[in-house]
Amino acid sequence: MLKNKPKSSYSTLHPFSYMTPFSSTTERDFQSRNICLTRGEGVWVYDGEGNRFLYATTAVPSVGLGNPFVLDRIRAQYETLNFASTCGQTHPLIEELSRRLIERSGSSFGQVFYSNDGSGAVETAMRLARQYWISKGQTKRIKFISLEGCYHGTTFGSGSVTHLGIQQSFGPGLAECYAAPVPNPYRLPLEGTLQQNINDCLHLLEELIFEVGPNEVAAVLLEPIQGVNGIVPLPPAYLKSIREITEKYGILLIMDEVATGVGRTGNWIYSHELNIQADLLTLSKGLTGGYFPMGATLISATIAEQLFGNGGIFLHGSTQSGHPVGCAAALAVLDYMDENCLISNAEQRGSSLLSTLQSALRDHPYVGDIRGKGLMLAIEFVSDRTTKSPVDFAFGEKLSAALHQEGVLGNWFNGVLILYPPLTLSPGEEAFLCQAVIKSVHSIE
Ligand code: PMP
Repeated sequence: MLKNKPKSSYSTLHPFSYMTPFSSTTERDFQSRNICLTRGEGVWVYDGEGNRFLYATTAVPSVGLGNPFVLDRIRAQYETLNFASTCGQTHPLIEELSRRLIERSGSSFGQVFYSNDGSGAVETAMRLARQYWISKGQTKRIKFISLEGCYHGTTFGSGSVTHLGIQQSFGPGLAECYAAPVPNPYRLPLEGTLQQNINDCLHLLEELIFEVGPNEVAAVLLEPIQGVNGIVPLPPAYLKSIREITEKYGILLIMDEVATGVGRTGNWIYSHELNIQADLLTLSKGLTGGYFPMGATLISATIAEQLFGNGGIFLHGSTQSGHPVGCAAALAVLDYMDENCLISNAEQRGSSLLSTLQSALRDHPYVGDIRGKGLMLAIEFVSDRTTKSPVDFAFGEKLSAALHQEGVLGNWFNGVLILYPPLTLSPGEEAFLCQAVIKSVHSIE
C-alpha cells in the first residue's frame, strides 16, 4: 500500500493533457474529457458507447485503423520473429526497409538509423551532427539553431530545439540552442509585406549565425510546415534560402519531416516538392501508421561515409531500435500506400478539402485563416479579423464539443483547429468531414 496515495483521480499521467478530473468543467480539462476510444476501422474510431468519429487528431494513422493488409503482415512477422536485436546483428526486414527509404528519399542519403518515435529520430539527428563535427576536428561546432514556433520533440535535445513554450516546464534546456524568427504568413512577426518579412527573417538568421559564431553551429533544424504550432506552412523561398545559408557557412541542415513525411503533404517527403536536400532527415508518425512506434533518421551519404565509411561506431540507440515488427509494419504501410496510390489521394483530397472549406468559411466573422498542404489542414479562429486577436478558451471548448457532436475528432491548439485525416480518406469521407466542420463552425456563430 502506498503511504501517500496520490490525490489525483488518474492512475495514468497523460502526455500534454491537463490532469483535472473528468467530472470537472473547468476550462483546462476539455481537451481529453470523455474521449476514451475502444475500436477503430478505416478513418473511423469508436468510443465505448458506440459513438463514431472521423479520426483527424494526428498524422499517425496514415493507412487508416484496423487495416487488414497491414495487420496480416504484422501478424505474420510476430509469428516468424517477434524480436531481434540490431546491435551488432541484423534481420532482413530492417535491411529491406532502409534500402526502400533511401530509394524513395533520394540517392544523397546513404544510411538510416531507427529510433522508437519522432523525438528519438530528431535526437539521433542532433547526435549525428555533433559526432560528424567531432570527427572532422571541428569540435566547437556544437550549437543548434531552429525556428520560433517549431516543435521537434520531448527528449532533452529535441525539447531544447523546440520553441513553443515547453522549455519553461523543464528549463533550462541545452545551452547551445537558439531560435530564429519565422515569417509565419498569417502572423508576420515584422513590419512590411510577406516578402519583406522573408528577407528580414533570413537576414536575422544570418545575424544570429554570426552572433553565435558561424564555425560553432552544428546544424539548423527545420520543420517545414509547423504542425503543432497550427499547420503553419513556411514560405518555400524562405526554406530554400535557409538551405543556401547553411551551405554558405558549412552548417548541416536537419529537415524534420516527422509529421510532413510519408505522403502527408501529397509528396513522399515535402523536401521533394521544395527541392531541398537535407543532410539529415527525420520520419516517424505515418511511417508505421500507428501499428508500431518507430522513428527513422536518414543520413546523407557524405555524413555516413565520413563517420562510418572506414568502420566507426555510433554510440547511440536503444535496445529495441529497428524492431522487426516495426519494420514489417513500415514495409506493409509503404506497400499499401503504393498499391492504393495514397500519396496522390492525399494531394487530391487535401486540395479539394481545403478549397471547399475556404469557400464555405472564408467570410465567417471568426475565421482568420484556412490553410494547409495535402492532408494536414488548419482553420485559425480570431475574435476580430482586423486585429487578428485570438479567440478565448470557451470558443475552443464550444467548437470541440460541436465537432464531437458531428462525429469528428480534430486537435485544438491556441485558437487553431488542426485536422490530419488518414491518407485513405475517400471522397465520401471527405464530404462528411467537410460538412461536419462547416456545420460545427456555423453552430457557434
Ligand atoms: N517533430 C515533429 C515535426 C513533430 O510533429 C513531432 C510530434 N508532434 C515530433 C518531432 C516528435 O515526435 P514524437 O511525438 O513521436 O516523439
